[in-house]
Amino acid sequence: IDLLERLAVRAGLSNAKEQVVRAVSAVDLTISAGEVVGLVGESGCGKSTLGRMVAGVMPPSSGQLLYKGRPVAGLSARDAAEFALKVQMVFQDPYSSLNPRMRVRDIIGEAPLFHGLTTRTGLTHYVSDVLTQVKLDPSYMDRFPHQFSGGQRQRIGLARAMAVNPELIVCDEAIAALDVSIQAQVLNLFLELRERFRFGYLFISHDIGVVEHISDRVIVMYLGRVVEEARTEDLFARPNHPYTQALLKSVPKIEKRRSSFEAMKGELPSPLNMPTGCPFHTRCPHSMQICKSQIPELTDIAPGHKSACHLNSG
Ligand code: SF4
Ligand code: MG
Repeated sequence: IDLLERLAVRAGLSNAKEQVVRAVSAVDLTISAGEVVGLVGESGCGKSTLGRMVAGVMPPSSGQLLYKGRPVAGLSARDAAEFALKVQMVFQDPYSSLNPRMRVRDIIGEAPLFHGLTTRTGLTHYVSDVLTQVKLDPSYMDRFPHQFSGGQRQRIGLARAMAVNPELIVCDEAIAALDVSIQAQVLNLFLELRERFRFGYLFISHDIGVVEHISDRVIVMYLGRVVEEARTEDLFARPNHPYTQALLKSVPKIEKRRSSFEAMKGELPSPLNMPTGCPFHTRCPHSMQICKSQIPELTDIAPGHKSACHLNSG
């Protein structure tokens, strides 16, 4: 398998005249082959927007998406088709992302057939294999989505993504809609498959416990900005940004499922009325004068560890 060397996105929605909400302001994200990057933040922070940009289903209005070092927008038709296969998405809601009128065989087999990864005669065998990988009984392939439980449907969603041999799967709140009792099961399946097939994930979640469990590297977003980025061990051992610290205080372990944000003081500001300066200053316990007027830059504070906080430049 041809490895995804680097997938980078520089995203920005910068045209103030259009009065668009700046869902993602200034993000520079690179995902290496086989890497699991967790993207965490409150709902409305721009995580899903960024995920859609990475998957190529939503173009950045400024900046660019690079695939193996080349801008996706300028790829030849052949390379663009390759990119579309190599980066797949799994959505939060398996109820609405699976066509209710299609049998599982066709949901999973459609893209591989279209792209010549299998043939009509080989389809049953091909779909059987993929279903076995996600631990579903291949004899289910002639059923429709409504005949499955939520957890099973999410396995079907994952099977559909895996069926085209992707290099990166963007998972947007992929386990959030599932019963707590089966979240860990599905999460472990994600990890197992990654070990076996060496693809990477961009794992988007509001739940920092989930992100800790699955990720090699974690990116923390707040109001459309990356506020901290580090290897998972470093982020959890030495969280630098006050927002990350507040997140960690609220949920220490995946087993303790509570609202991730109960320890945070104050309301999340509306993206239509963005605070000046540091976006977190309205809720930060360490806010200083400079925080109200100057946006802190994301800077290196240790090897592989970045944070955007004025406390680091004092
Ligand atoms: Fe808090 Fe200021 Fe750091 Fe923002 S820059 S997180 S307001 S201390
Ligand atoms: Mg979202």
